[in-house]
Amino acid sequence: MSAQSQQSSQPVKKLRAGVLGATGLVGQRLVSLLANHPWFELTEVAASERSSGKTYAEAVRWHLDTPIPSAARDLVVRSLTPTLECDFVFSALDSSVAGGAEEDFARVGYPVVSNSRNHRMDPDVPLLIPEVNASHLDAIAWQQKNRGYDTGFIVTNPNCSTAGLVLVLKPLAEAFGLEKIFVVTLQAMSGAGYPGVASLDIQANVVPFISGEEEKMESEPQKLLGKWNGERFVDAGLGISAHCNRVPVIDGHLECVSLSLKKIASLREIREALSEFEVDSELASLPSALRNPIIVLDEENRPQPRRDVNSGAGMAAVVGRVRECPLLDVKLTLLSHNLVRGAAGAALLNAELLAARGFLNRDVNEESRESLTEPVSP
Ligand code: NAP
Repeated sequence: MSAQSQQSSQPVKKLRAGVLGATGLVGQRLVSLLANHPWFELTEVAASERSSGKTYAEAVRWHLDTPIPSAARDLVVRSLTPTLECDFVFSALDSSVAGGAEEDFARVGYPVVSNSRNHRMDPDVPLLIPEVNASHLDAIAWQQKNRGYDTGFIVTNPNCSTAGLVLVLKPLAEAFGLEKIFVVTLQAMSGAGYPGVASLDIQANVVPFISGEEEKMESEPQKLLGKWNGERFVDAGLGISAHCNRVPVIDGHLECVSLSLKKIASLREIREALSEFEVDSELASLPSALRNPIIVLDEENRPQPRRDVNSGAGMAAVVGRVRECPLLDVKLTLLSHNLVRGAAGAALLNAELLAARGFLNRDVNEESRESLTEPVSP
C-alpha cells in the first residue's frame, strides 16, 4: 500500500529527527520546537566543519530566550555525511550547501524536510504549506521514481515572506478567485540568518533590497496555489508584483497587500473568508497546527511585529486593515513570524503531515548507506 493511501494517524512510537544546519537561526528554532514534541525526538544535529565534533552547546550561539533544550545540549554536532541515526532530517542549511546535501540524504533513503530555497521550484519537489496544498504530496512518488530514490525524498517549505502571504491568499482564492497581487514587505532582520545585516546598515534605516526575495515572492505562490496534475505542477497563473524591504525589526515580516479578485466581494465577506478559514480534521490533529490559522484584527493600527508576532505560537498569519483599494479591489496588512510560520514551524508542520500520512515510517536503505564511502562535499 502506498504511503498516501494509508489512513492519517499519529506515529506509534516517536520518530527520530535530525537537524542539518542545527546551529543557525532556523536550526535553533527547530531544536527548540522539537523539545518535548509528542511525535518526534531529536537524535542528531549537523552543521559545518566549524561546528562538527563539538557538543551542540559548545557550537551554537544560542539566540532564543528559553534555554538550550537538555536533550540537545550534549549531542555531538555531526558533519553532513548522510549516516545519521535518525528516521528523517530537517534541513536548515545555508543555501550554498543545502542543494547537494539534501540530495545526498534523500538518495540514501532519508526523507528531507527542507527550509532552503535550493529545491523549492524543482518540477518534482512539493513546495508545501499543509493548509494550502497538501495534495501536492502526491508528487513524492513521482519524485522517487524520477530520481531513483527508494525511501528518500525532498519536501520544501516556502520562503519566509511567501509563507504568510500564501496562507492568507488561500481562502480568498477559494472563495472569490484571485487575479493580481501587489505586495510590499517590511522584513525582519532575523530573516537574513546570523549575523545577517550589519548593524551600521540597518540601525535607524530601511534597506530596499533583499537579494532574490522579490523573485521568490513572485514565483513560489504560483506553485503553491497551483495544481499537481500527476506529472507536473501547473502554475496558478496569477499576476504578482513584490517589493521587498529589510527593516530594523527583530522577528516578523509585515506585508502590505493589494489584490484584485475574480468575483466581486464585500469587505465583510473578505474578512469572514479569512477569519473563518478552518483546516480539516486531519490537519487540525497535527501537533503544530492551528484550527483557524488566520487571525483578523479590527484595530486600525494592527498587526504590529512586536505585539502580534507570536500569535498562535508563531504559526498564525495575522491580518488587519482590510479595506477597499482604489487601484485593485481590496487591500490589507498581514504579519507572520518569519522563523516560525516562515521557517522552523513550517518545516515541523510539514513533517507532522508527512508522519501522519505514513511517509516517514521507513528503514533507511542500509545498503545505500554502506556503499557511500566518500564523505559528502560541502
Ligand atoms: P544561518 O543562521 O546562517 O544558519 C546556517 C546554518 O547552515 C548553520 O547551521 C551553519 O552551520 C550551516 N552551514 C553553513 N555553511 C555550511 C557548510 N559549508 N557545511 C555545513 N553546514 C553549513 O541561516 P538561517 O537563517 O538559519 O537559514 C537557514 C536556511 O533556511 C537558509 O537556507 C535560509 O535561506 C532558509 N530560511 C531562513 C529563514 C529565516 O527567516 N531566517 C526563513 C525561511 C528559510 P555553522 O553554524 O557550523 O556555520
